[in-house]
Amino acid sequence: MNNAAPKATDIVLIGGGHAHVHVLVNLALRPLPGMRVTLIARDLAMPYSGMLPGVIAGLYRAGQAHIDLARLATVTGTRLIHAQANGLDRANKRVLLAGLPPVAYDLVSIDVGIEPSLSPVDGAAEHAIAVKPIGSFLTKIDALIARAGVPDGPRRIVAIGGGAGGVELLLSLRTRLIADARAAGRAASELTFTLVTEGDILATHNDRVRAAFRRAFAERGMILLESRRVRAVTADTVVLADGEAIGADAVLATTDAAAPAWFRGTGLDLDAKGFLAVGPTLQSVNDADVFAAGDCAALIESPREKAGVYAVRAGPPLADALHRRARGLRPDAWHPQARHLALISTGERYAIASRGLFKVEGAWLWTLKDWIDRRWMRQYQDTDALARRMAAR
Ligand SMILES: Cc1cc2nc3c(=O)[nH]c(=O)nc-3n(C[C@H](O)[C@H](O)[C@H](O)COP(=O)(O)OP(=O)(O)OC[C@H]3O[C@@H](n4cnc5c(N)ncnc54)[C@H](O)[C@@H]3O)c2cc1C
Repeated sequence: MNNAAPKATDIVLIGGGHAHVHVLVNLALRPLPGMRVTLIARDLAMPYSGMLPGVIAGLYRAGQAHIDLARLATVTGTRLIHAQANGLDRANKRVLLAGLPPVAYDLVSIDVGIEPSLSPVDGAAEHAIAVKPIGSFLTKIDALIARAGVPDGPRRIVAIGGGAGGVELLLSLRTRLIADARAAGRAASELTFTLVTEGDILATHNDRVRAAFRRAFAERGMILLESRRVRAVTADTVVLADGEAIGADAVLATTDAAAPAWFRGTGLDLDAKGFLAVGPTLQSVNDADVFAAGDCAALIESPREKAGVYAVRAGPPLADALHRRARGLRPDAWHPQARHLALISTGERYAIASRGLFKVEGAWLWTLKDWIDRRWMRQYQDTDALARRMAAR
């Protein structure tokens, strides 16, 4: 059934996330008569999650880890609206924007990531730095790194949350702050790094991976408090559920993520945590013209952890699904792998690979990760090459 007549289709993408950058390029390379693609983006630079710890550690410049969405939109002929979406008027098929008139759509796709969820910990919203969403995180971490450079700046750094993001982040920050302290002639020994987590660190990984990271923390003199719950954060302490108070000059919270609140007003079906419920075709379970991917979506039939790797992998099936729907065809189902190879760095040019019961580590794995990440980024950063592909299509 490839002969369905193309119809004029306004495809509106909300959020320039990890899946949507692929959609922009893919749809531009196979345009349909009457198809127009619009990107509504709150931020014009998309930070690539896989390289963020490397930026913090000082292994990459920030520009190497960001995709310039304005440039990508120009090269792909995408209409770009620099705005924040705050609702869907599905009856009239319009995206509602903060401070701007609504934008009409035939098909809409949502890839807006997540919001921080600091409310379960008293005082966290006031005193902790939320690691998510990643868009604003680098600015906050840069400010922390700058503050750490002054004589009475933060020295006792505490991270809450022992997932891969929190572990890698604290290791990377340690590398950076110690390098900065040494470069400035200050004693690195006055810096302390503590990670507090409710259960085990890296709970979704195997025992050998956990053991390797526990060893990495111990070798670096970092403090790891597992199976300890944080009750509150104050201006200078992290208070645990058992009453122990840990001195803290800076607190990073990588705890649970919440769904954007505006989803609740859309009338779209949501999962128990408020994320957009989608089927295997990445279409909303109650509106076939609404698609979602990445952290903001919940794959109802095959739930996956919220990780950049799944957002990246959703790009090709999402682009196909939109293209087929625009042609009046039924989108194909996508069944993401249950397991993926995670390459988690130790904050230096060294990484530990984890997949199921498999674990291997070494500097060569960081080199492999670096190669994979750079190759992925080139597709969206090398706009000259993309322009040539566009011209040859
Ligand atoms: C420090 C850190 C390290 C991490 N490391 C890894 C890793 O190594 N591997 C891994 O797999 N995962 C990692 N993650 C997780 C990863 O960052 C997320 O899973 C990933 O970013 C999800 O991609 P996404 O496309 O769903 O959303 P995002 O990348 O968050 O993109 C969403 C985009 O939508 C835009 N947006 C949001 N709301 C609106 C709106 N209302 N209107 C318009 N635009 C909007 C935002 O500006 C943003 O650009 C890490 C996370 C952190 C914090």
